[in-house]
Amino acid sequence: MPESVLREVQDEMLCLPGAGASLLEISHRDKLFVEILHDAENTLRSLLGVSDDYGVLFMQGGATLQFSAIAANLLRGTGKRAEYLLTGSWGKKAISEAKKEGEAVAIYDAKETNYDRLPGASDYTVSDDAAYLYYCSNETIQGVQFQNEPECPASVPLVSDASSDFLCRPLPVDKYGLLYACAQKNAGPAGVTVVVMRKDLIEKADPSIPGYLYYKNHLDNDSEWNTPPTFAIYVLGKVARWLRDDIGGLAEMEKINREKSSSLYKIIDESGGFYRGHANVECRSLMNVTFNLPSDELTAKFISEAGANRLAALKGHRSVGGIRASIYNAMPREGVDALGQFMADFLSRNG
Ligand code: PMP
Repeated sequence: MPESVLREVQDEMLCLPGAGASLLEISHRDKLFVEILHDAENTLRSLLGVSDDYGVLFMQGGATLQFSAIAANLLRGTGKRAEYLLTGSWGKKAISEAKKEGEAVAIYDAKETNYDRLPGASDYTVSDDAAYLYYCSNETIQGVQFQNEPECPASVPLVSDASSDFLCRPLPVDKYGLLYACAQKNAGPAGVTVVVMRKDLIEKADPSIPGYLYYKNHLDNDSEWNTPPTFAIYVLGKVARWLRDDIGGLAEMEKINREKSSSLYKIIDESGGFYRGHANVECRSLMNVTFNLPSDELTAKFISEAGANRLAALKGHRSVGGIRASIYNAMPREGVDALGQFMADFLSRNG
């Protein structure tokens, strides 16, 4: 979280200006909260350039509930099949939930190379009548990130799990049928998930699906079909304002993220093979820098010594091993520099 946002939240915690009470105490129907919700939506819309053809929804259930919601709304009962590009762990989880709603097939799967790469346009074919094409723009565990949207026929809605790279760079929303992101990486605290969706697609879904999953309920009720996660939306609005007003927008954020990530990739590339990046160079993530060391012993030593230097949460996921440095938007340049310094120092002592 950006420190300035945490301080604002702290200042307003006991008494929300104008409310005479804490945000945690007022109703989600209170005019002040409704204004906060609309402001959060409008700030996101202006940051991303979202047109009126799209709804912006605030939902609960994390990114995980969207694995089911997407298939319930866009696949169930259509007689079509949904097509998935599997480039890492989260895409695999998503397809397994979609299969409960209808036919969902992987038209690309990078499992043979342990999800270290992304497909080129010639590596897969999307059916013209697919219910949708699904992909994960940044696979958090593997650290592979699409640089551009995958090729997709105009007749097929493109769907993206943007959970771990939402707001890290400009996003051409009009290329998508639907995109979504849990907030807890770049957009705010855990508890809210943003869904940006073409309104005409919402209208096509079958109203008999479970009410919470039915996007139209959320759209028609301005994300207040039931009680929304008020605190998470309030903080998300502040993070969006920080991005727009303090950082200067998403193009500026991308520049900063490129500088931060490339400083670590440079150390990996110049380490003479001591650090080995997991992701192929052309699909390296701006958000999750994944790499291995020559042995498990050195990996354990790296993590332990890094911890002693107050560099935390570096252990890679067990499916990939090694190290994962997650450097989301709010990670300051100084934090990345401190890690880079430690990596260089560790190499000189152990290389
Ligand atoms: N998709 C991606 C890309 C993620 O990184 C995560 C969480 N790390 C999820 C989905 C699942 O999110 P949640 O825990 O909010 O359900």
